[in-house]
Amino acid sequence: MSKKNMDWANIGFNYHVADLRYVSNYKDGKWDSGILTEDSRVVLSEDAGVLHYAQEVFEGLKAYETEDGHIVCFRPDLNAKRMVESAQRLEMPPFPEERFIEAVEQVVKANEDWVPPFGSGATLYIRPLMFATGNVIGVKPADEYQFRIFVTPVGPYFKGGAKPITVKISDFDRAAPHGTGNIKAGLNYAMSLHAIVTAHDEGFAENVYLDAQSRTYIEETGGANILFVDADGNLVVPKSFTDSILPSITRRSIVQVAKDYLGLKVDERPVKLEEVSNFKEMGLCGTAAVISPVGKINDHGKEICFESGMEEMGPVIKKLYDTLTGIQMGEIEAPEGWVHRIK
Ligand SMILES: *Cc1c(COP(=O)(O)O)cnc(C)c1O
Repeated sequence: MSKKNMDWANIGFNYHVADLRYVSNYKDGKWDSGILTEDSRVVLSEDAGVLHYAQEVFEGLKAYETEDGHIVCFRPDLNAKRMVESAQRLEMPPFPEERFIEAVEQVVKANEDWVPPFGSGATLYIRPLMFATGNVIGVKPADEYQFRIFVTPVGPYFKGGAKPITVKISDFDRAAPHGTGNIKAGLNYAMSLHAIVTAHDEGFAENVYLDAQSRTYIEETGGANILFVDADGNLVVPKSFTDSILPSITRRSIVQVAKDYLGLKVDERPVKLEEVSNFKEMGLCGTAAVISPVGKINDHGKEICFESGMEEMGPVIKKLYDTLTGIQMGEIEAPEGWVHRIK
């Protein structure tokens, strides 16, 4: 066994076919025992539920090597739990949480050579997913499902430092009030693709979505939660009163780091678009980038520029970023259970 010979710093966020993936199928009311397989393909019947009524949920987490040569991942218990909640919302049979964690461990160990070396900035991205394989024609939940986990190495999110981005206030909505915005389902992404392609064509990095009910409050971007820093240097975190923001594990971790490690006050509350110009810093958070700094919001031609500017991360966002990544990498002592050792 030896590491794959890859240009780790330059592999980008692309799919590379690793050696083995985990597959378990649900049939006759139960999940089978699951296997590791070399087969990266999924063969479906044309009447499979996922193809018609979009019964699919997924997760995303990363494994990486620490300085002392261990392979770890970050809070997989929260991914396991969130996937159960996502599945329940779409009437899919939940995959048991403890089996989810065991399956993550099995897949990562089986693809150990694909875990990028410490210090490369690259990580092994882990993608659990679950979808309806059983037949449907009439609208109803299927009765057969597949749970699968595959991995692929991904390059460092920020090459040559994290440059602040410009985002736009979108005229599209991401999630209906009391709809499915708070679960991690492919259906929330299908309808965001047109919005993101449009935003990119206009020269913006991301869309900021407002609450669909009043179009007054900030929700999140297509795939990341939002953080602000107020004039007193404290953290302000948008909260949805219509339950339509995805519960990001990175965001929940940052909130705890802000309070317990940095002694910041954290205000989790509905945040109006009109008050955003009072804030000093803004960031987007999620597993992929941890935190991406935002320098500017474009609201229908009107620019809201943050004091932190377009050159570097603001000081508070940077401290949060450095502390959380330090915890993940084992340089700063982690709260109990945050860094999960696989090997
Ligand atoms: C996955 C996701 C996030 C980020 O969640 P993490 O658990 O931090 O990776 C944020 N918003 C949406 C819509 C997502 O799908």
